[in-house]
Amino acid sequence: MGAMPADKNTLLDNLISTTKLLNYPKIKQLSKEFPKYYVKEIAKSELQNIRDIILNTPAESLDAVDISSESIEAKVDMRVRAEFRPSIRPAINAAGIILHTALGRAPFAEAAQEALMNAVRNYCTLAVDVPTGKRGDRYVHVEGLLKYLTGAQAACVVNNNAAAVLLVLNTLAEGKEVVISRGQLVEIGGAFRIPDVMHRSGAVMVEVGTTNRTHLYDYEEAINENTGMVQVVHHSNYRITGFAGEVPLADLKPLSKKHNIPLVEDIGSGCLIDFTHYGLPPEPMVQDSIKAGADVVTFSGDKILGGPQCGIIIGKKTYVDRIKKNPLCRALRSDKLTYSVLEATLKLFLDRKTLFEKHPVLHMLTLQTRTIGNRARSFVRKFKPVLGKECEIDVINGESQMGSGSLPAQFIPTKLVSLKSKNMSADELGYKLRMSEPPVFSRITEDRILLDFRTIHPREIQTLADVVVEALRNSRV
Ligand SMILES: *Cc1c(COP(=O)(O)O)cnc(C)c1O
Repeated sequence: MGAMPADKNTLLDNLISTTKLLNYPKIKQLSKEFPKYYVKEIAKSELQNIRDIILNTPAESLDAVDISSESIEAKVDMRVRAEFRPSIRPAINAAGIILHTALGRAPFAEAAQEALMNAVRNYCTLAVDVPTGKRGDRYVHVEGLLKYLTGAQAACVVNNNAAAVLLVLNTLAEGKEVVISRGQLVEIGGAFRIPDVMHRSGAVMVEVGTTNRTHLYDYEEAINENTGMVQVVHHSNYRITGFAGEVPLADLKPLSKKHNIPLVEDIGSGCLIDFTHYGLPPEPMVQDSIKAGADVVTFSGDKILGGPQCGIIIGKKTYVDRIKKNPLCRALRSDKLTYSVLEATLKLFLDRKTLFEKHPVLHMLTLQTRTIGNRARSFVRKFKPVLGKECEIDVINGESQMGSGSLPAQFIPTKLVSLKSKNMSADELGYKLRMSEPPVFSRITEDRILLDFRTIHPREIQTLADVVVEALRNSRV
């Protein structure tokens, strides 16, 4: 009574020993490639997993449990290789969202990649005054460029735009009131909410106006001797249409000047060029905010700017100097990886003739649908002879998105490859594509996989075709 059924015992007794398993060819090979001790640990852990499975499986289902030494060998091999594979690795963005936050936002320009390697391969001049050899200032690498490109008097860089907003509020308005329009109390993806950031900064939020309309007199009435700042926020990721209106920054300037209160704008994206010149919908430009009288402007380095994750603060020298001296600024500072990539990215904006060719985000954004269509068709040509029978494949019209809260209501015409497998659902194929190496991220509509060739680089097309063929073949069991 209570004794284990005999066949469980037999199975456990027949299980390969750790010592023997370690002598199997795949495991021996693993021990050459990876730390031996670690391979042994994984082998032991896989054997324990099998023992647990045997113990927990009802006697009548035991036949289905594969306890062959080869299957355990294969499991150990897979697990060790999976654990040593880099967790951050290249992925193919076939989703057509140019600034895909989950996929790392902007891919870097070649010059930025080189600058990064040069900064990290050895020592670099991050914060040294080269002539004197004394401790210098890390802002110098980009401050001149930012001043030149935006027309601001001074600049400073921190971890991201969320940090920039927090730091500016804390420096200029801790313990004071900050006047802001109700229409601008926005939430940006990833839990960045203006009211929460304001609260954490130690400033007191004073909301004025209504969700859809705010007037100059609303600001005027709210200003008093406790007011520390007027904050304007660009509602990057949504639009209010219809009976709606905000007070333009330029109209707020006289008010802020009269009361000697800094006028601060969180512009979000950090656009440095006039999009309308390139047939794109308008996006507010940083230099226009400075021209219109903003005392401080904050924006992201890795949205339309196409640089590394960082937050850029520009504006009047008196304010930026105070911001740089805030101890929080030290806590939020950026490192050599960021500075090297940012400097190289900003330099691309000095030459408008080569900018769109060298800057990956702007390049993808302005690709002609004809070019995208050619790439999609070249993919279909590579692919159709191999698997054309098992899958419907077409090139269709569709829309790309900017992503990351830039150009929110704008869909950009594109060409998509639409795939419909005869053997599996789009969800299943989408899963297989994500689990491939490299992982491929696509869109699904009406049980079809859609691959947007705007965000697929030409050098990725062959790899993508291989991945798709493999994923579709795996369905044939
Ligand atoms: C994106 C955005 C932020 C947050 O910027 P991060 O660089 O992602 O921290 C803040 N404010 C606005 C208006 C934004 O669009």
